[in-house]
Amino acid sequence: SSTETKLNTKEIKNIQRQPTVYVDVIRDDEIQEARLKLPILAEEQYIIEVINENEIIIIAGETGSGKTTQVPQFLYEAGYALKKQICITEPRRVAAISMSQRVAEEMNLSTQIVSYLIRFEGNVTEETKIKFVTDGVLLKEIHSDFLLTKYSVIILDEAHERTVYTDILIGLLSRIVPLRKKKGDPLKLIIMSATLRVSDFTENQRLFKVAPPVINVESRQFPVTTHFNKRTVENYLKEAYSKVIKIHSKLPEGGILVFLTGQHEVNLLVKKLRITFPLNMKDKLIAEKERIEPNADYNNYPNDFDKNSKGTNKKRNNNQTHINLDDYSIPNDNESNSGEEDELFSDEEDLIGNSSVYHNAQPLWVLPLYSLLPSQKQQQVFKPPPIGYRLCIISTNIAETSLTIPNIKYVVDSGRAKIKLYDKVTGLTSYVVRWTSKASANQRAGRAGRTCPGHCYRLYSSAVFNNEFEDFATPEIQKRPVDDLYLQMKCMNIDKVTNFPFPTAPDLLQLKAAESRLEILGALRNNEVTSLGQSISKFPVLPRFGKMLALSNQHDLFSHTICLVAALSVQEVFLETPWSGSSEEKKQLRQKWASLRREWAGTGNSLLLGDNGVLLRAIGAAEYANSQGKLKEFCQINGLRFNAVTDIRKLRLQLTLEINKNIPALDIIVDPKMEPFNDIQAKLLRQILLAGLGDQIAKKVSLEEANQFKEKAKYKYAYKANSMEDFVFLHQNSVLKKTLPEFVIFQEIYETDKIYMRGVSAIDPEWLPTFVPELCNLSEPLLDPPPFYNEKEGSIYCTVRGTFGTQAWTLPEVKI
Ligand code: ADP
Ligand code: MG
Repeated sequence: SSTETKLNTKEIKNIQRQPTVYVDVIRDDEIQEARLKLPILAEEQYIIEVINENEIIIIAGETGSGKTTQVPQFLYEAGYALKKQICITEPRRVAAISMSQRVAEEMNLSTQIVSYLIRFEGNVTEETKIKFVTDGVLLKEIHSDFLLTKYSVIILDEAHERTVYTDILIGLLSRIVPLRKKKGDPLKLIIMSATLRVSDFTENQRLFKVAPPVINVESRQFPVTTHFNKRTVENYLKEAYSKVIKIHSKLPEGGILVFLTGQHEVNLLVKKLRITFPLNMKDKLIAEKERIEPNADYNNYPNDFDKNSKGTNKKRNNNQTHINLDDYSIPNDNESNSGEEDELFSDEEDLIGNSSVYHNAQPLWVLPLYSLLPSQKQQQVFKPPPIGYRLCIISTNIAETSLTIPNIKYVVDSGRAKIKLYDKVTGLTSYVVRWTSKASANQRAGRAGRTCPGHCYRLYSSAVFNNEFEDFATPEIQKRPVDDLYLQMKCMNIDKVTNFPFPTAPDLLQLKAAESRLEILGALRNNEVTSLGQSISKFPVLPRFGKMLALSNQHDLFSHTICLVAALSVQEVFLETPWSGSSEEKKQLRQKWASLRREWAGTGNSLLLGDNGVLLRAIGAAEYANSQGKLKEFCQINGLRFNAVTDIRKLRLQLTLEINKNIPALDIIVDPKMEPFNDIQAKLLRQILLAGLGDQIAKKVSLEEANQFKEKAKYKYAYKANSMEDFVFLHQNSVLKKTLPEFVIFQEIYETDKIYMRGVSAIDPEWLPTFVPELCNLSEPLLDPPPFYNEKEGSIYCTVRGTFGTQAWTLPEVKI
């Protein structure tokens, strides 16, 4: 277009006025030789020219072509670090560390010059010229210096991974770059990605008016033959194991790379293979001296907590003994479903049995690779194996695009990856094993063809690949709950989130709904984040639960609130019907369970805490039973789902660890046993729940109103919610069914024959002006009827937004 040409000529004139300065770098011969083999080296001149002439460019290139390690060096040599710094963002912490070290080494510069900065850690100095950071760190810097004045170039690496932070950075930088240009202090933006869908960046006119130039780094890729399994097996770990044995014993030399999903699996397979192909004494010595001890990783494995409780209880000043958090299982890579993988190798004996030890085979050099592996051990994968050995790397998807391992000829692909899921209700994250995308599977296959023609063995059928794999992974921004996204973006000082130039935008209506929910919560006021909002944003859950957690701090109610949040992410804690038995037996059990729950509900505030109180009591009792080694039995007798109880425990630990990591000052200690709450605490918990669930209040449908309907009896349990048109109902299993409180809050709704409320607690309407003031019109005198304070009665009269009409409230007495 005409604007494009105009822009470019102007820029070229500018460039001609600037003298080009070259900075010398003296590299070791060996490194220079390796560099010259990288496809991107051939493009150095061209890349620098395009960067000089354009503010924003995209570099797409096959993994291993040299983008991450070389482009920063090109820029340094072209003088971009003379006055300001060059910044490279990585989605993964390990990539920021290891790439900064590699670049420093290649350039013969100290890590004071080529440095990294990740959250809580880094080696950046005054002299730093090239700085590798995580995308989150750069976002924080924008917060304090919107124009990023210290930098001459920002490189967003691995943009194809589409993390929320990278996406937001692209949006922000699309505005910062023109601003810097206007100020006569241009900033260059380079978006780098593997050869995956870049159209989201180039064809989005809201993002970039003129599509930025794309440089494709051509690299020589040898053909890779793909072999699908005839059948898709569940136990991909075992299947991977036999595939490696087959390749190693039958096929010509060449490295093997196996893709699994997590650290735990990687270590299991490494261990199996090292037992199957034992090192001889001499090699063992080499291994111990120069490399890693073959089984070290496996031995350092976090053990299952039940078998490994250390009993070092931490004490709080109130003399109450709390259980050390070590007593919980620490999920690997934050996964919440550890244990599952152990079952993959359930017939362990078979695998380790005599028949599978290959004493006389060609030796195999087996190395693990995953994010949390210490960087020194990670470096092992780049070194050639000892002479006579075949290299075999067992990796997570970190080897898919972040790290390139030399000399791989065979790829074994499990087809799975650990995927981050957000719980829709609570916003809690969990990691689950799922199929990867077609794009990822093809990336993985490509790893086999870098030095010679290769083979990729897919441990799944072509039907599964064609029918069940998505083309591309969904960008994280579309998976993250919008309330949380909205608040986080507001905390980054982003003014109008609904107008933000997202590379892929979340649903606009949902963003707007999120905005109004955040206002009701008091996290936003007049489009500004309140100090409450700032506190809320630090909790790794949806804002409503963040608010509840923030309030719990003041009354030592963390254990209880954390438990409520955790329990909400777990379905069906209580069984409705027994799984087995005659219908008479089932009926009896159901009645017994119902009476038990009424007992748990108690009286007074405890009863009014309702279903949430019952849940807390049940979990508390189950944990006590667990400490006596009787959890299974307890669950059976009381109608609790065993797996739900253990899942809740894991989530409670995960949430506690995450909160302590984000807000170290809190230093929460959660007592798994959870002391029973007293009447005052029950009341406080009701208020905390109200504070977080103000947009989910329901008012009892009056008799008068119910009488208008044909089937009156049906409306006995009907409520009108402030957020909905339809009636919502108390479920027959709710302990509040007998009390039928006037006002309740609910955790969520679900629909079967009717719309039911789940997680119901009773609230006192006079608490509304204190805990959900945003819902109450107290200050506008012209309302009809006008709100007023009746001194004699001590009541406030006001209308509540929603469908509740006028209410008289006595002034609230309890402050939180
Ligand atoms: P890209 O970013 O395009 O995927 P990289 O710049 O990461 O490519 O990698 C270029 C080359 O540098 C690859 O051949 C890779 O094996 C090599 N390499 C990267 N890091 C190291 C390291 N720490 N030690 C040895 N070689 C490395
Ligand atoms: Mg890279």
